[in-house]
Amino acid sequence: MQIQIYGAGIAGSYLHELLSQNGFDVRIYDLRSKPDCRCAWGIAYSEAKELYDRIGINLDDYILSKPKEVVINGKIVLKNKNVYIFDRKKLLEDLWRNFKFEKSEADVVVDATGCSRAVLPKIENDVVYCTVQSIERHDLDENIYIHMRKTGYAWAFPLGGRWHIGAGDQSYERAFELVRKLRKVYGIEDRGNECYCKAKIRMLPPSKCKPIVHGNIYGVGEAIGCVSGGGEGNAPSLKCALIFYECLANNALEEYEKRVLEEFWWIEEEHKFVTAVQSGKKFTALRLLPKVVSIESKRSVSQSIRDIKNLLNLLR
Ligand SMILES: Cc1cc2nc3c(=O)[nH]c(=O)nc-3n(C[C@H](O)[C@H](O)[C@H](O)COP(=O)(O)OP(=O)(O)OC[C@H]3O[C@@H](n4cnc5c(N)ncnc54)[C@H](O)[C@@H]3O)c2cc1C
Repeated sequence: MQIQIYGAGIAGSYLHELLSQNGFDVRIYDLRSKPDCRCAWGIAYSEAKELYDRIGINLDDYILSKPKEVVINGKIVLKNKNVYIFDRKKLLEDLWRNFKFEKSEADVVVDATGCSRAVLPKIENDVVYCTVQSIERHDLDENIYIHMRKTGYAWAFPLGGRWHIGAGDQSYERAFELVRKLRKVYGIEDRGNECYCKAKIRMLPPSKCKPIVHGNIYGVGEAIGCVSGGGEGNAPSLKCALIFYECLANNALEEYEKRVLEEFWWIEEEHKFVTAVQSGKKFTALRLLPKVVSIESKRSVSQSIRDIKNLLNLLR
């Protein structure tokens, strides 16, 4: 059986390694000649560490920073548990060194093209947010700094001496505005950037990204909404690639969509929560809050219901 993967981002590259290291006939193709750097460098460490171990990659070799705290709107300070900052670009560059990009007819086609979703049919009522980001030098304590509002947030991620400053919101103007607010709240001066770019991120859960499978085309990663309500897509995209690999290896591709929807139930809950907050449905948001707090306390940052209630009161 021949497998063609489109997109060698975090999901496609990982899937390629799972397949090729286990004897499958797999090809991969990406539009880019170098990996996209983007600001996507926070990762749910324990899950990702285990996943990368499977393809012989030691995630610890790529960790740039283990921030102690997450500070939100300058007022709420949470203990960081599991969000590490990794050198995503270097990890992808190391994988790409062994890839020869090619396209051919295949029995199974994988759309791992992320937000572009270039192979699967378009999503009806797609929701895509705009992000801006830059790398800058600053002398700050190694924490994650966030400035949040109902529709998005700005962040400063430590990269060990350098910082990724960025924001995501419903438009580029709003994202720039958030970055300006972040600078003001934390005293992060605009001293000129080492690099700067714009990108987009899909903000829909898998159940709203159908079709997930179309004929012999299977979506993997952000192409099918493996991004949490808070914009975490790295570890979920890896996990999604692993599910695809397991279904293929067990000759059970017909179970793929069901397994994706089951695995990412928590992403569904987070998106419901975000939608409720954004649309002012306070009662629904409060009902979903304990679940969201419990999910994120396990996978990212220690938090209590009171912390998030306090945060909700700060959001405009
Ligand atoms: C600014 C920003 C910050 C983020 N920060 C974080 C973070 O801190 N932590 C986190 O967990 N997640 C973060 N995310 C989300 C995360 O980056 C994505 O969800 C994740 O990268 C998705 O992985 P993927 O492999 O599905 O897609 P991608 O990583 O986007 O890879 C898609 C690949 O497909 C290629 N491609 C596109 N079109 C075609 C085509 N027609 N043919 C062939 N190839 C094509 C692209 O070049 C790319 O290499 C962030 C996203 C953005 C935009």
